[in-house]
Amino acid sequence: MVIQILLGLVIAEFGFYWAHRLGHEVRPLWRFHAVHHSVTRLWFVNTGRFHFIDTLVSVACGLGLALAVGMPQDIIVWCSAITAFVGLLTHANVEMRTGPFDYVFNTPALHRWHHSRRLEEGNSNYGENLMLYDVLFGTLYLSARRPPVDIGIEEHMPATLGRQIAWPFRRADTPARTA
Ligand SMILES: [Zn+2]
Repeated sequence: MVIQILLGLVIAEFGFYWAHRLGHEVRPLWRFHAVHHSVTRLWFVNTGRFHFIDTLVSVACGLGLALAVGMPQDIIVWCSAITAFVGLLTHANVEMRTGPFDYVFNTPALHRWHHSRRLEEGNSNYGENLMLYDVLFGTLYLSARRPPVDIGIEEHMPATLGRQIAWPFRRADTPARTA
């Protein structure tokens, strides 16, 4: 069971990684993902603060891959529960020293770097649960410095969630997050 869950996480992670990375590097997708990055404070509520199109793309890639390889339903449930837990942990406003685990799992420090305003820091650490593909594809970002407190995006974003939901459908004027 444990081996199946680990394998399930590795398979689904491939879909999550690329959905997330493309959300940063492809302009139309970034407009949806930017809603999640527009927050200026990292706390657990941000875990579920996504544009629904952004969520659909991510779930379609991660869960779609799991279904495509015939992953059993109970393994999908376990992987989903772990994803929810890691999501809450990585968006929590906590300072944790996770040492070598930063090379294996997504951690609060890694994800805080991901929310950095600086593109060279923020366009990194795309892993949902595991950092496997960030290591493989060279997008892991770690620094000895403290992760940034000042997070968010430089682009204009409407203040209310309702307008943020409508914003990506309006005329594109925001470049993708390519450094
Ligand atoms: Zn992101």
